[in-house]
Amino acid sequence: NTEADFELIGRPEVLPMYRPRLKFSHKGTYGHSVIVGGSYGKIGAVQLASNACLSVGSGLVSAFVPKCGYDSLQTAVPEVMVLTGSRDKNISRIEIPFEPSVVGIGVGIGQDDDTIDAFSSFLKKIKLPMVIDADGLNILSKNPELLKDVPQLSVLTPHPKELERLIGHWESDFEKLEKAKEFALQHNLVIVIKGAHTITIYNGKGYVNTTGNPGMATAGSGDVLTGMITGLMAQGYPSVEAAIFGVYLHGLAGDVGASKKGYEALKASILVDSIGDAYADLL
Ligand code: AMP
Ligand code: MG
Repeated sequence: NTEADFELIGRPEVLPMYRPRLKFSHKGTYGHSVIVGGSYGKIGAVQLASNACLSVGSGLVSAFVPKCGYDSLQTAVPEVMVLTGSRDKNISRIEIPFEPSVVGIGVGIGQDDDTIDAFSSFLKKIKLPMVIDADGLNILSKNPELLKDVPQLSVLTPHPKELERLIGHWESDFEKLEKAKEFALQHNLVIVIKGAHTITIYNGKGYVNTTGNPGMATAGSGDVLTGMITGLMAQGYPSVEAAIFGVYLHGLAGDVGASKKGYEALKASILVDSIGDAYADLL
């Protein structure tokens, strides 16, 4: 029954998921997110993701980057606390000196051999659901034995190329979705298949997003989504809801941004700046 297998996600579907802020709350109420990523020349990905994570409401945000990212990140997003590894250009060991609410990993991280080692030992340490994107996904594709260490209910956010590396080639959209469903079930994961209509796959079902526009086909757009889903999970949204709601809000931020800037000039940083307007539309 394909009709029951898919649900369109619009405003009425996300409204019941929305968790407005409580009057008697403090930053600890809204979690401490950690964004792990970046490499020489790709610190901007972490800047976008951590800024998006804050803007979606995470109480505290830390970023873990190689040393070369320290100054620029502290300057670009002063609200974000910055942790660095021991190497200058790549992450070679991931040590977080506190218990994070949630970790989003992979943006701009690259595929240096030492980074792959760091990622695999980190997976063994972390038990909470996390968000995995970009080269974090590509590392999983190249080292499928690591999949058993990915915490259950983690959210994977591949674009079509990353998905293909993960689940293999497909001949039709139908086959793509079936394979993604099977993969998600097998590992008990949430898979966010990004595109013009992003589809979130979980437990044999697909949730088809209705917001967003082609202006979002731009550098860093996916990094913003990673930060948003991470920040929602930090606030206690369960993985599946964080993915569905985050994708909806990300698309809505894109629609607000495009209404002011047009499609061509829409940049990922404008998406971040439009998250507040997207929330306002839910009130
Ligand atoms: P990435 O390729 O990782 O930067 O992710 C791209 C982001 O932009 C995803 O969230 C996509 O859903 C979104 N996106 C890309 N192209 C389009 C499009 N044509 N319409 C709507 N959203 C898009
Ligand atoms: Mg990406």
